[in-house]
Amino acid sequence: MKYDRILIRYGEISTKGRNRHKFVEKLRRSVVNSLTSFPNIKVEASRDRMYVILNGEDGKEIIEKLKGIFGIQSFSPAIKVERDVENIKQTTLELVSSIFRAGQTFKVTPKRSDKTFELDTDGINRVIGAHLLKNFPGLKVNVKEPDINVRIEVRQEAVYLSCETIQGAGGLPVKSAGKAMLMLSGGIDSPVAGYLSMKRGLEVEAVHFFSPPYTSERSKEKVIDLTKKLAEIYGSLTLHIVPFTEIQQVIKEQVPENYTMTTMRRMMLRITDEIRKQREGLAIITGESLGQVASQTLESMYAINEVTNTPILRPLISMDKTDIIKIAQEIDTLEISNRPFEDCCTIFVPASPKTKPRREKVHRYESFVDFEKLIEEAVQKIETLNITTDDLHSEFNALF
Ligand code: ATP
Ligand code: MG
Repeated sequence: MKYDRILIRYGEISTKGRNRHKFVEKLRRSVVNSLTSFPNIKVEASRDRMYVILNGEDGKEIIEKLKGIFGIQSFSPAIKVERDVENIKQTTLELVSSIFRAGQTFKVTPKRSDKTFELDTDGINRVIGAHLLKNFPGLKVNVKEPDINVRIEVRQEAVYLSCETIQGAGGLPVKSAGKAMLMLSGGIDSPVAGYLSMKRGLEVEAVHFFSPPYTSERSKEKVIDLTKKLAEIYGSLTLHIVPFTEIQQVIKEQVPENYTMTTMRRMMLRITDEIRKQREGLAIITGESLGQVASQTLESMYAINEVTNTPILRPLISMDKTDIIKIAQEIDTLEISNRPFEDCCTIFVPASPKTKPRREKVHRYESFVDFEKLIEEAVQKIETLNITTDDLHSEFNALF
């Protein structure tokens, strides 16, 4: 039995009220862009569902692509048939016989959005259920946990039949939720924070602080490779590389050692916020997780966060390292993050940074240096790269 279309369910988009059409349009573009290698398909979007009409293209390959698209809750290979009871009986039979294995149970789930159809939901249940039971000796009904759930959806234009529901990636359509700057180090956490933000519809640009010659070209390559991985979601991703050596040297010379980390973070945040303004973003994302290291205690965050009013999004704040590592593995960034190259922060970080820095103290230490000027200079020397993905057949390939 050949399916002729794939029915896509939106999940959360359907709660978006008046903005719904914008979300649906973003999702439609994601789907179209990720299926460019199937020239015959047609994508039909309406306010509560989407169909990919196969027109002879390979449904299995298309299903694999759809699994990676954010904003899809679930989807089902389906067949469109005329609104005729005999027709429905016949096609349901073919559908079930193509997947039925001895000993399996089933149920029929009718949905009738058009009340003018000759059978009501009970009627559909009875007629189709009886027809299947008659034709498959040994087949049993199981209403709670059936192996095969035969969905029969009666709509005004036709009836849609499907027996399989495949879990989608969830989230919201790419670039449907506004722009934010991702502070991307070479570590494990920030790429995961970036991925989760992108999954939730944020349009992300990455910012990396780089301290040559203390950090090598290899460590820059590492960040470019991480950006490339994340770029698979959009097709390309902007990366801003900030020269940070001078500021770090001044901090090391002018600020007492146990406060250097606090000031360094504050400067990173100020610079990222400048870039955010220029790029018209509305938030900053970090890979911080509460209590993981000295800079991520609540006291540290309180002292560091003071430099800006911009929302700082911390998708990993309550996650344990083991959970973060699991996601890093799934999205294929763990191996890159584990490459042993030095990070600008680790090089300048003192042996025992303050875990409870105080704002008044930071203010005083910073007051002896004209950081404003240093920040301006660093911002002027930013190198902005447009990183495109290597792997055009990636599972996240939405090619926006
Ligand atoms: P990560 O694994 O993301 O490096 P971490 O556990 O090593 O995080 P920190 O080094 O304290 O933690 O960094 C906290 C957050 O600050 C990072 O998740 C990242 O968002 C940001 N950050 C740290 N170093 C840099 C850098 N060199 N460039 C850009 N952002 C950075
Ligand atoms: Mg780090």
